[in-house]
Amino acid sequence: MTTTARPTTAQDVLAELHARQGADLPVHGGRTLAYVYDSGLAEVDRVGREAVAAYAGSNGLDPTAFPSLLRMENDLVAFAARLLGAPDTVVGTVTSGGTESVLLAVQTARDGSPQVTRPNMVIPATAHAAFHKAAHYFGVEARMVPVGPDFRADATATEAAIDDSTVLVVASAPSYAHGVVDPVTELAALASARGIRCHVDACIGGWVLPYARRLGRDVPAWTFAVDGVTSISVDLHKYAYAPKGTSLLLHRTPALRRPQLFASAAWPGYTMLNPTMQSTRSGGPTAGAWAVVRTLGDDGYERLTADVLEAVDRIVAGATDIAGLRLVVTPDSTLVALATDGTCDAFTVCDEMTARGWYVQPQMSYGDQPPTIHLSVSAATLGAVDDFLVALRESVAAAVAAGPVAVDEGVADYIRSLDPAGLTDEDFDGLLAASGLVGENAEGELALPDRMAEVNAMLDLASPAMREALLLTFLDRLSRPSRA
Ligand SMILES: *Cc1c(COP(=O)(O)O)cnc(C)c1O
Repeated sequence: MTTTARPTTAQDVLAELHARQGADLPVHGGRTLAYVYDSGLAEVDRVGREAVAAYAGSNGLDPTAFPSLLRMENDLVAFAARLLGAPDTVVGTVTSGGTESVLLAVQTARDGSPQVTRPNMVIPATAHAAFHKAAHYFGVEARMVPVGPDFRADATATEAAIDDSTVLVVASAPSYAHGVVDPVTELAALASARGIRCHVDACIGGWVLPYARRLGRDVPAWTFAVDGVTSISVDLHKYAYAPKGTSLLLHRTPALRRPQLFASAAWPGYTMLNPTMQSTRSGGPTAGAWAVVRTLGDDGYERLTADVLEAVDRIVAGATDIAGLRLVVTPDSTLVALATDGTCDAFTVCDEMTARGWYVQPQMSYGDQPPTIHLSVSAATLGAVDDFLVALRESVAAAVAAGPVAVDEGVADYIRSLDPAGLTDEDFDGLLAASGLVGENAEGELALPDRMAEVNAMLDLASPAMREALLLTFLDRLSRPSRA
C-alpha cells in the first residue's frame, strides 16, 4: 500500500503502521541475533518506550532550554564512568549510535593534532567499518594492521605502523566479527609513549565486559583503568538494552574532548553550539536510555549479563557439537562466529535458520578467512537456547543435504574479473538483476529474494571494491519513492 495525501484517522494509521511492521524482523523473543538486543524483560521495554514517547518532541540542542535532558545525559555518563573505571576527570557525551561515537573519536583525534597535515590512525584489520567511514568523512588515513592468528590486534605490527603523522591508535573490546578483545594494555602503552590518543571501541562490549568481570569471568584489562586509554565508545542501544539511538563517547579529560565541541556565530541566527554531529537532538533516545539504565541498575545488568553469558556458553558447547560447524575463536563476550567445513556453506545455513524463525547474520569471506555466521546473543536468547540449537542442527543438516551453494564457473570468473571503476550505471543495473538481488513482483514493484544464499555466494566472489559498488547501486535502487 502506498501512502496517500488523504487524511486518515489515528486508529487507521496505527493499524497500518503495525501491519507494515509485520514485514520486519522481530525485536523481541531473542530469536534475532543481530541488529537488536532483547533483555526479555517486558517492564524494561515498556519503561524505555514510554520515556522515548514522553521526550520525542524535546530538543537537546539547547541544554539551558531542556535542562532535564542535560541532567539525564550527565547521569548516563556518570554511570558509564563508574562502569569503565574512569578517573574523576572523565567527561562524555550521548551520541546517536556507535558510528557517531567512533566518527567523533576520530574527528577529535584529528583536530587535537592540528600540526599534522596528513593524519593517519592505526587500526586492527578487525576494527568496525565505522572507522573506514570516519576515514572517508574526515580525511584521516586508516592504516590497517593484520591481526594475529587469534584474531586479536598485533601489538608489534601496530608499533611498526605508527609514525609521526599517527593521531590515533584503535582497539576493540570486543571486535564485532570475531568477538574477541584486543590487547588494550599493549596498544595503549604504544600510543601513550608517543603522546598519541588511544580509542577503545567498546560499542558492543562496554556494557557487558565489566559485569562479566564482576561475575568472575576472565576479562583482560581494557577500560580507563589501563594507562594510555584516552577515549571509549559504548553503545546504550546494544547491551544496555536501551531503545535505538544512543551511544556514549567518553574522554579521559575535558581537554581531550575539547576539539569535539563545535560553535558557530557566523550567521544571523542563534549561535550554534553542539557536542555531536547532530544539532537538533531528539530527547527521546536519551530519556529512553536513562529510564532503562535507571530501571535495571547494576544488579539488573549483572543478572542480564549472567544470563547472556550462560546462553553464549551453551551455544558454543552445542554448536561445536554439530558436525559441519566449527567455532572460529572462543568468544570473550557475547558475540559468536561460526564457520562451516566443506560439506555445507554458511550462507545456506543462515537461510535455513531464517526459515526456522531465527535470524543469524552472514559475514562474507575476508582475506584468507572463509564466510562465517555471526551471532549477537541477547539475554532473552537464554530461554530459547535449546530451540536455537535444534534449529541450528537442522539447518546444518539441510545445508549439507543441499550441498555447498554453487555459482556457475563462468559467472564466477566474470564477477572476479570485474573492475567497478570501469562499469556504468547500466552495467550495475544489469548485474543486480543477474545476481537476483533485486527483481520485480507481478505488480512491477521492487522485490527482494526470500533466500539469500545464491546472492551472498555471488557477492562473496566479488572483490571488496566490487561488492561495495554493487551494494551501493542496490541501496540507490531501493531508496526511491513510489509516485504511483
Ligand atoms: C555496533 C558497533 C559499532 C557501530 O555502532 P552503530 O550503533 O551500529 O552505529 C561500532 N563498533 C562496534 C564494535 C560495534 O559493534
